[in-house]
Amino acid sequence: MKLIDILVGVSLISLIQLTPGPASASEYETIRFSENDVVCTFAARPNFGREVRLSKPSREARKSVEWLSDYVGIHPNFQIMAGKFESGASPVAFAAIHDSVRFIVYDVDIMYQSAKNTVTWRDLGVMAHEMGHHISGATTLGTKSPHDGELEADRAAGHLLRLLGASVEQALSMASVFSSEGSLTHPPRQEREDAIIDGWENAQALLQATR
Ligand SMILES: [Zn+2]
Repeated sequence: MKLIDILVGVSLISLIQLTPGPASASEYETIRFSENDVVCTFAARPNFGREVRLSKPSREARKSVEWLSDYVGIHPNFQIMAGKFESGASPVAFAAIHDSVRFIVYDVDIMYQSAKNTVTWRDLGVMAHEMGHHISGATTLGTKSPHDGELEADRAAGHLLRLLGASVEQALSMASVFSSEGSLTHPPRQEREDAIIDGWENAQALLQATR
């Protein structure tokens, strides 16, 4: 089934249906990410344990990144992994480069908790944000400031979700875990929501201009 077939008729609800597929294997390995490896955590958790127990991603997580990569027009050369984190210290997801591999790690206990073969706009938005860090070059070039880097990734996520058919409200569902006050690494929720809306509106204008 092509992506467009999957998306038709579901843009008004918060779930995207996948056709059923084989279950992912759950083999674990542990990687210790250094402070320099990790560029972004989705939620403001700078002190999360960087020794992360990883397993293969769910099919829904893998498909999410494949869709997003297709829309950007790039090969999805990211290592997507499911991670286990201590309760209360979850980054939700993070982007890192480790041994020259571009990682996107998501918390297996928080992300992709909806029914099998479905992807929520929130989960898609989180993955788009992490991809945004990689695509913008933040994982290799660094950014001017952590806050600028976060807003850039939020803008990219809003943009990508609009291209995939999300409404503004659906794109903003990823903001449910944002901190209202922000932190040293992450801007306050309102600023991040504004960045998502900005990216969404840019994509909307692009779609209208090229129609
Ligand atoms: Zn980030």
